[in-house]
Amino acid sequence: MSKPLVAIVGRPNVGKSTFFNRAIGQRLAIVEDVPGTTRDRLYGDTEWNGLTFTLIDTGGLVLGEADDLTAQVRAQAEVAIAEADAIIFITDVLDGLVPADHDIAGVLRRTRKPVILAANKADNAERRAHALEFYELGLGEVYPVSSLHGTGVAEVLDAVVAALPKVAEEEMPEGVRIAIVGRPNVGKSMLLNRILGQERAIVSEIPGTTRDALDTPLTWKGQPVVLVDTAGIRKRGAIDRGVERYSVLRALKAINRADVVLLLIDAIEGITAQDAHIAGYILEDYKSLVLVVNKWDAVKKEAHTMEEFTTRIREQLRFMPWVPILYVSALTGLRVSEVMDTALRVREQRFQRIPTGELNELVADAIARHAPPSKAGKRLAFYYATQPEVDPPTIVFFVNDARLVHFSYQRYLENRIRERWGFEGTPLVLRFRGREKRKRR
Ligand code: GDP
Ligand code: GDP
Repeated sequence: MSKPLVAIVGRPNVGKSTFFNRAIGQRLAIVEDVPGTTRDRLYGDTEWNGLTFTLIDTGGLVLGEADDLTAQVRAQAEVAIAEADAIIFITDVLDGLVPADHDIAGVLRRTRKPVILAANKADNAERRAHALEFYELGLGEVYPVSSLHGTGVAEVLDAVVAALPKVAEEEMPEGVRIAIVGRPNVGKSMLLNRILGQERAIVSEIPGTTRDALDTPLTWKGQPVVLVDTAGIRKRGAIDRGVERYSVLRALKAINRADVVLLLIDAIEGITAQDAHIAGYILEDYKSLVLVVNKWDAVKKEAHTMEEFTTRIREQLRFMPWVPILYVSALTGLRVSEVMDTALRVREQRFQRIPTGELNELVADAIARHAPPSKAGKRLAFYYATQPEVDPPTIVFFVNDARLVHFSYQRYLENRIRERWGFEGTPLVLRFRGREKRKRR
């Protein structure tokens, strides 16, 4: 359930993004049509030796600060130490060991988190020999890698998986897991305090392990809820230089540990590229999402302001028309209680199990109303539908030939399912299994 976070650090041009793309592999293609996730992609999930983890290229998380280079690279390392579960430190055998590498190593040595040192651009035997030089950094094993050719990447990932702390799931407190994420200054901490201050929220004081200490367990109208990674929201300004980068990492980490994500948007600024990135990540991770437009008090309102806002947001996030949008003010308390109510409703719908009989009736009816597409004289035919999984809700359709399924027909079926069962705020996984495929197996 909770996915570890692995950060890639290193000087510019050592090959961080090349390494990242190697490690993420073909997953990139899957999200191509999600807005905001294609350009300068900085994080993605990868599965290695049975473990799924989120990989982040911290080098790309520079958001136009006027820092000098060294300060920036050092800030990345600090962010990685603060937030990641393991760190991949990349150096460059062509440049050899340079002072900036010593600098980064100095920062990384202060952490107990696992650091895997990769000497990149070791494209051939001679260059691999140069990798030895990096033992001088005192970070243990040096892994020669050629991200360009893909050699050595597997060994680095093996080492990462071996070094990652095994998190026992039982450590996590019970309840609906809700994360509050958003850019700095959007009002997360104020909203958190508002929620905690409501009489429906009873904060439980449970002395916990270090991991629990990140979270705030409470009951909302009698239901157990865990607000995940709230320690990060309270602990403001822990890293001044890297605030922006820090917030992205923090958001990813919180999303990984949550069922429902509250993505806060600043009403004045609207949806930024970073917000779209985060939304894309939530979708890709099949987590549930509620969009919370905060600071609504500060917006000058006319008759249709809210509708206009909604239209614009729907356009920007057109891959998720099912996301509920709330307009709140953490400052005045406007509609703040709806935030938790909505999150709990979304979570309840997420965990529905559709009775197979009803699902098949719905499919039969949908087909009768709108005939499935055909190609080269062959028409798509449906045999049977079932929901094998609830988290995330997954629906499998057995059909004559999966290649005949057109995106628009898939969207049509999804809409019918949502009309009937809601699944508000939750991405649905729709799979189509053709006959040929089943025979072969
Ligand atoms: P970043 O700034 O650390 O993310 O570095 P990039 O991934 O953008 O790579 C910088 C340059 O190094 C690019 O021109 C890459 O093609 C090149 N590069 C990356 N990995 C390797 C490698 O393993 N071998 C060689 N020869 N070049 C590489
Ligand atoms: P965080 O960085 O996301 O935790 O944001 P904070 O909760 O610290 O809020 C950042 C700033 O926005 C503070 O100055 C708050 O007073 C202000 N703020 C937060 N919520 C609202 C709101 O609903 N309306 C207005 N006008 N200001 C708000």
